[in-house]
Amino acid sequence: PTFDALGLREDLLRGIYAYGFEKPSAVQQRAIKPIVKGRDVIAQAQSGTGKTATFSISALQTIDTTSRETQVLVLSPTRELAVQIQKVMLALGDYMSVQCHACIGGTSVGEDIRKLDYGQHIVSGTPGRVFDMIQRRNLRTRNIKMLILDEADEMLNQGFKDQIYDIYRYLPPATQVVLLSATLPNEILEMTTKFMTDPIRILV
Ligand code: AMP
Repeated sequence: PTFDALGLREDLLRGIYAYGFEKPSAVQQRAIKPIVKGRDVIAQAQSGTGKTATFSISALQTIDTTSRETQVLVLSPTRELAVQIQKVMLALGDYMSVQCHACIGGTSVGEDIRKLDYGQHIVSGTPGRVFDMIQRRNLRTRNIKMLILDEADEMLNQGFKDQIYDIYRYLPPATQVVLLSATLPNEILEMTTKFMTDPIRILV
């Protein structure tokens, strides 16, 4: 199995190889195609499996770079992780002229507003600041097509459940949802029932 066989756009493939990846990891082999096809996917995957690149490659493959509307929203439990995801998106998308902003607490709200007003294809953030930016209408949700919930179990442990539900209510009803979690406790399963349609489950 190769990245070439996944049917990805040329500029993205170039970014993947330039980043140093040679072949897809197990979760990448199983999850990228269904996500790109638009399926809701639950991936039970720990860190170290290549989960970040799984959803980053899928997100980059699906965005339309001819418009600067926000099309993908990634939520994760910590500021560090949100920034790490932004860096992976920008590195893999190095040949795509993609805009990806990290929307996290503890940073300047003015700078967030400026970046969001300029236009960001992908926003990677923590639930608190993201919800704040949605309520201020600087993060416009109308064109969001994909919601990625990374380390979903950890987000619930950090007390973000209500904020995730609040954010979800602002998204278009047809938004595709990709959820990654090391464990799948009941609260996560409830969330998948509420947010997802006929999801594929992948265990790695
Ligand atoms: P993650 O599971 O997202 O925490 O990623 C774990 C590590 O694996 C990161 O350092 C990635 O850069 C690396 N990685 C992810 N996918 C691949 C791949 N296909 N080939 C080589 N390294 C990879």
